[in-house]
Amino acid sequence: MIKKLICKLSSHRFNAWKYITPDSCEQVLVCNRCGFDKELRVVHQFGEWKFEDENSCEQVRICKRDHYVERRSAVHQFGDWEFDAGNSSKKVRICEKCREEEILFNSDPGFSTWGEDPTKMTRAELYNRGYISDSQYFNP
Ligand SMILES: [Zn+2]
Ligand SMILES: [Zn+2]
Ligand SMILES: [Zn+2]
Repeated sequence: MIKKLICKLSSHRFNAWKYITPDSCEQVLVCNRCGFDKELRVVHQFGEWKFEDENSCEQVRICKRDHYVERRSAVHQFGDWEFDAGNSSKKVRICEKCREEEILFNSDPGFSTWGEDPTKMTRAELYNRGYISDSQYFNP
């Protein structure tokens, strides 16, 4: 009772975080003197990041206390850019691990700079690749 009185007259001494239960990650900030609790926070104790499975680029890490799972997307392992089959206005590259596709359209910056030589193309190819516009193609 005296401790509580001191806290009332002066102020609490909040300097200890304590877990609410042994298998939870919730902590409260308690007054060192009277035990009054003020704030709540969650502090997980995560293990290492691991791939979810061998064909996945998603990584997970699990809290050792309450088994909370945190996820993140890892960096994909993309192969080379290739023209999409039968579609020269689109390039595709595929992640070797999870098979995710990334697509680049000929309107995207940098599309035309990959290993192409516009001077050796026919007008139709130039048009299909987006080097020349509709009006340039139809009204030369
Ligand atoms: Zn207190
Ligand atoms: Zn946790
Ligand atoms: Zn991937």
